[in-house]
Amino acid sequence: MLRKWFAIPLWQRVIGALILGILIGWLWGPEAESIKIVGDVFIGFIKMLVVPLIFFSLVAGVASIGDLRKLGNVGWRAMLLFVVSGQIAVWLGLLLGTVIQPGVGVDTSMIEMGVTPEPDNTTWREMIMGMIPQSPVQTMADVNVLPLIIFSLLLGIGILMAKEEGGPVLRIFDSGAIVMQKVTMIVMELTPFGVFALMAWVAGTLGFDALAALGKLVALNYAGCLLIIFVMYSLMIKLLAKLPVRDFFRGIVDAMAVSYSTASSNATLPVTLRCAERNLGVSNSVASFVISLGATINMNGTAMYLGLATLFGAQIFGVDLSWSDYFLISILGTLGAVGAAGIPGAGLIMMALVFGAVGVPLETIAFVAGVDRIMDMMRTTTNVSGDAAVATTVAVMTGEIDREEMISADDV
Ligand code: ASP
Repeated sequence: MLRKWFAIPLWQRVIGALILGILIGWLWGPEAESIKIVGDVFIGFIKMLVVPLIFFSLVAGVASIGDLRKLGNVGWRAMLLFVVSGQIAVWLGLLLGTVIQPGVGVDTSMIEMGVTPEPDNTTWREMIMGMIPQSPVQTMADVNVLPLIIFSLLLGIGILMAKEEGGPVLRIFDSGAIVMQKVTMIVMELTPFGVFALMAWVAGTLGFDALAALGKLVALNYAGCLLIIFVMYSLMIKLLAKLPVRDFFRGIVDAMAVSYSTASSNATLPVTLRCAERNLGVSNSVASFVISLGATINMNGTAMYLGLATLFGAQIFGVDLSWSDYFLISILGTLGAVGAAGIPGAGLIMMALVFGAVGVPLETIAFVAGVDRIMDMMRTTTNVSGDAAVATTVAVMTGEIDREEMISADDV
């Protein structure tokens, strides 16, 4: 029985669990909350991996790139793809919101008020200071990803600069990264159970009623995300990476399922890394560097959503937006996506940043909070797929991909 279970490829077990979870949650209703603990345990184990994984793989990734020039080559390409795709995503959100007008005719009295998250009042000075890894150990203890990334990047660059003398330190990080991958493999075996429980909980508790009132917004959020995934990323893989699109998506199916059920780019990070290296053949150094960085700053689903939600709020409350407001939204939407942590609901908090700048009432956040989880799941899948797409494209451009390793859609 156990042997039969392990004989099924993990991604098939995960997809099966996802479908079964929705079905059970739908039949079971709010009571399904009782099995959420299984999902929480799964997320807890995945969270355990985040700090050591980012630390070991990012340092090893940067240091094993070999020299500073090559690091620059990979770095600027990744950053360019992050920024351009983020801008396209925000404008797509604005376009969908302008053409379909999801907020017009919404009966606000029908909408159950969600819990308004505290508006984020951090000033830009605090934001900058928050990015400085003043105490690396504290940063790790607080799971503060952005300063941890900065510290890891600096450590990796230091090892590169130390050349031969940095060798022993590099070996520690290299072997640490390999060991962490093995630990990840163990935790990954919990995925089908975690995904099942989380999906049952979402389907059972949120139900379809909550969706009806905000149906248009939710539908548009899904449409925008699907366009980004299947049009923008497909084009990136086909035209820039020149790889078979089907093989790419087949390779990241695990990461897509985990991101959809956990709604957290950070929590999915170990899985995304594994998919990129094992299924797509992206070299360890490029995957660790681009994907660890991307999980925090590359969020196209979130960027698209910030554009769309701002128009939604403006339409509900009758706020007129000018062209210059649109440009402001496009810039703040991209920045908000960069600043959003890779955790559930982060995009919702970032709304305050954009809304405040163009005069959309913050009450909109309360309107959408109740159904945010359903939209968050799709945003996160978009964010995570984007990290894998950029890593694959940069790997091809810099000759850091092993086509032999790339899984083919016909293999299974
Ligand atoms: N949950 C998303 C992520 O982890 C961020 C967001 O809320 O948009 O990528």
